[in-house]
Amino acid sequence: MDIGFIGLGEMGSAMVGNLLKAGHTVRVWNRTAAKAQALADAGARIVGTPGEAFAGDAVVSMLADDAALREVIDATLLDHAPQGLVHVNMATISVALAEALAHAHAGHGLHYVAAPVLGRPDAAQAAKLTIMAAGATEAIDRVQPLFDVIGQKTWRVGAVPQQANVMKLAANFMLAAAVESLGEAAALLDGYGVAMRDFLDVVTGGPFPGPVYAGYGGMIAQRRYEPALFKARLGLKDVRLALAAADAAATPMPLASVLRDSLLEAVAHGDGERDFAVLGKVAARRAGRG
Ligand code: NAP
Repeated sequence: MDIGFIGLGEMGSAMVGNLLKAGHTVRVWNRTAAKAQALADAGARIVGTPGEAFAGDAVVSMLADDAALREVIDATLLDHAPQGLVHVNMATISVALAEALAHAHAGHGLHYVAAPVLGRPDAAQAAKLTIMAAGATEAIDRVQPLFDVIGQKTWRVGAVPQQANVMKLAANFMLAAAVESLGEAAALLDGYGVAMRDFLDVVTGGPFPGPVYAGYGGMIAQRRYEPALFKARLGLKDVRLALAAADAAATPMPLASVLRDSLLEAVAHGDGERDFAVLGKVAARRAGRG
């Protein structure tokens, strides 16, 4: 397929690498053009404007956040896009912006598919992302071959794009809750001289198996917050988006408010670029053992 790709950060670069390996033609645009060079060496064509990426069989965007999308995907861009083009937005953005983008695309005769992902850059590189796709069935059908190349499984979660965004935000809220609970448990154990490593062996071998408890728990046990596979700054963004979605649906999420403050504390102490596991450091500091 002839694909445009907008946003070559940690996630986008890894996804484009896999699309190229699968033989697709990829036109890439990134605000910082230098980041596209390695992909150009692997066969991608660098284009000078987002508009040049917004063409072909489909365009995928993987930008940081709402502000980036608002800056790049404007009315002029949509005006000049070929009728019937499918735009797949895979970034984690607000429910409100997803709804507005779906509306704006329909008004320009374009298809909008929301397809946020579960999995960090290492999973993106290994083509092991879990994709939650929502939008018109025929539009998703057209981009399914791309999903098959970058992900291990695509879940079709609704006909209304923002349903996929709500699902992604709910999942990241749960992830934040799990990491916060690991951090607080580690601080409690430390207060009694119990090694977090020993505790993890017990709970991951029993009621709490899986990559979240073992992975983030292991980082917290070692007080290791780098490499930052999922930055605390991005985690804070996602919890804020969950709170905004909850607010709009009159849904109290008191735990999400606690998570927002813990992540904000991490950012305030200069740890925003560190891994989400830095919530363990926040809990230790609160216990006077930071
Ligand atoms: P990243 O490495 O920080 O990359 C962000 C991308 O957005 C870069 O291409 C950056 O361009 C671009 N960007 C930022 N602000 C912009 C603006 N105002 N105008 C134009 N471009 C702008 O982030 P990432 O880790 O790839 O994450 C991308 C998305 O995937 C986010 O929505 C994130 O929440 C989501 N996600 C991330 C993970 C993860 O573990 N990292 C997992 C699942 C989902 P420059 O290169 O010019 O800065």
